[in-house]
Amino acid sequence: MRYYVMTLFPEMIMEGMHTSIIGRAMDRGLLSLEAVNIRDFAEPQRKSRIDDYPYGGGAGMVMQAEPVYRTWESIVGKIGRKARCVYLTPAGRVFDQPLARELALEEDLIFLCGHYEGIDERVVEEIVTDQVSIGDYVLTGGELAAMVVMDAVSRMVPGVLTNELSGLDESFSGSLLEYPQYSRPEKKKKKEVPQILLSGHHQNVDRWRREQSIRRTLERRPELLEKAELDKKDRKYLQELLANREEM
Ligand code: SAM
Repeated sequence: MRYYVMTLFPEMIMEGMHTSIIGRAMDRGLLSLEAVNIRDFAEPQRKSRIDDYPYGGGAGMVMQAEPVYRTWESIVGKIGRKARCVYLTPAGRVFDQPLARELALEEDLIFLCGHYEGIDERVVEEIVTDQVSIGDYVLTGGELAAMVVMDAVSRMVPGVLTNELSGLDESFSGSLLEYPQYSRPEKKKKKEVPQILLSGHHQNVDRWRREQSIRRTLERRPELLEKAELDKKDRKYLQELLANREEM
């Protein structure tokens, strides 16, 4: 996977993405990252300014179309084709695990980070293929949002997680939240690890984890259960939980 990020703060992207699992995946050549400074494509007479007042008035400034367009052209020229281009914006589709999985299938991804009041709509219409929000709140710029998306997408790129299974049964895979996790010691301030996890009986452990996932999803994010992939046993367990709730 090759990432290209159009940004006013390339150092923020480069520093933020070179740690831990993602940093190691870059060192291993599974991912590459280039942050391209939109200011480098400003009109020469405007020095490095790339913002201007909004037509129609109103607060704040708007990033101009031309510098963004030229930045994108330079990236597309390098890749040799128009790769998928994701604009991070609070007005976009809310990012989720299915979209992370879908984006991970691409070979190249271009990200566009806005600032100020946003970006001239004409260039957004021209170059952007996906508008993505990371949640219903407003950030000062798109860099943190781009890093969130790249982090989640990178975990879905084969080889990035050294234990491939760890991406399979965690939260949101199959639309359920993950079961609680425990590690040593067995007993901590009178709180013990559930006995079943020490039993060595893999089938029972799997069943227990599955039920914990269902229980946790029902308690914390019940709306996820509507699209969850539940088999007969799962549905029976869910019915029991719901019946117990009604009794209380
Ligand atoms: N005026 C814009 C609006 O109301 O939709 C908000 C602009 S925001 C201050 C500046 C930039 O931050 C946006 O262009 C976008 O790139 C980024 N941004 C802010 N919130 C975001 C979110 N929830 N998800 C993704 N990007 C976001």
